Amino acid sequence: APRTYRAVVLGAGAAGMMCAAHAGPGTLVVDHARAPGEKIRISGGGRCNFTNLGCTPERFLSANPHFCKSALSRYTQWDFIELVDRHGIAWHEKTLGQLFCDGRATAIVTMLRDEMAAAGAELRLSTEVIGVDHADGLFGVTLEREGRRERVEAPALVLATGGLSIPKMGATGLAYRIARQFGLGVGETRPGLVPLTFTGAVLEGLAALSGVAAPARVTTNGAGFDEALLFTHRGLSGPAVLQASSYWHEGAEITVDLDPEGRLLPALRAARASAGRRAPATILSEHLPQRLIAARAGEVAARVGDCADAALEALVARFRDWRLTPAGTEGYRTAEVTLGGIDTDGLSSKTMEARACPGLYAIGEAVDVTGWLGGYNFQWAWSSGWAAGTAIAAR
Ligand code: FAD
Repeated sequence: APRTYRAVVLGAGAAGMMCAAHAGPGTLVVDHARAPGEKIRISGGGRCNFTNLGCTPERFLSANPHFCKSALSRYTQWDFIELVDRHGIAWHEKTLGQLFCDGRATAIVTMLRDEMAAAGAELRLSTEVIGVDHADGLFGVTLEREGRRERVEAPALVLATGGLSIPKMGATGLAYRIARQFGLGVGETRPGLVPLTFTGAVLEGLAALSGVAAPARVTTNGAGFDEALLFTHRGLSGPAVLQASSYWHEGAEITVDLDPEGRLLPALRAARASAGRRAPATILSEHLPQRLIAARAGEVAARVGDCADAALEALVARFRDWRLTPAGTEGYRTAEVTLGGIDTDGLSSKTMEARACPGLYAIGEAVDVTGWLGGYNFQWAWSSGWAAGTAIAAR
């Protein structure tokens, strides 16, 4: 006879482990990878940006921007910080409220494994999910490990296998397939937090600047981000571009402002008034990388004193209002997250349970809730995992 569990959680990533740590004894967590939480291990450059002090619902993208509010308010960044502190994991704020481990990200994986073990959850790794069925209030899950098949049953099934980002690390569309099987809507997905690519002459211009980094404001579709911008041989990257990429749509333009604090025009005007013999490029070089000036300044008078105001404004606009149309993104190969996914309309925002299929839950990145860069995606995994886990424990 098949073994019966309290719940079967598919995916031992951030959300699945958090859920299992709260779902109560007799929960089974299944993953096809050899180790749990592989994305946690490599995240944040190996130090895991595990949450953000400024976590608010406005920093998430979803077809329903209200959906994430309940879980984020019931299990907050402060709750996760308390957990991290309880496990003696040292951390620091890097920038913009982003919290990182002082040491290795594997401490977070170990913490979650310990929490799961303490809760009485069982973890099966290197295990494939062959199929799922549902009858008489029980989900049947057929698993395969080392060529041996086994069927397990549970009144609750949790979809926590994440999105499509980084297929090399084992991302699959399993959560979407099972969601569809049980009648949940699955919206279009696209790569998010991903470098933008360009073609033709535009790419040549950008590639010539490869390696240059500068603070910038990158704006697209009404969303703007003030962070670092990086020129690469494929186009544009860096946090400001990754953030904007989640709001970018095929065919849309982005605007790059390389002087977000508006220092160039006053500096040029001041120089014109007091040191008119200086070259405009020399004044710009106090604020911008030399290679950028050489590439963007264009034709200007040799002496700033000879520049009319309109000429200075035109010069500054070349750095402040640089419009570019990306050809695309680097895709799931390098995207940090997947936008879109399981439609939130079919889920309870309090418990993550499917309205039309009691006992079925969807959490983490598989759901159509995507955070900004900066620890928000893990916070969504913790909050949604906690919401489903505590709901299962209360069943
Ligand atoms: P995942 O953590 O992806 O877990 C899904 C699990 O399901 C995996 O263990 C996978 O092996 C398993 N699985 C998939 N398919 C199957 C299948 N068919 N059968 C069985 N098991 C399966 N977010 C932040 O907040 N801060 C960061 O610093 C950060 N850094 C990142 C760095 C990189 C390089 C990447 C790629 C992402 C980063 N993210 C970061 C995003 C973050 O990792 C994800 O949003 C988060 O891991 C999502 O959690 P999840 O549990 O939903 O999915």
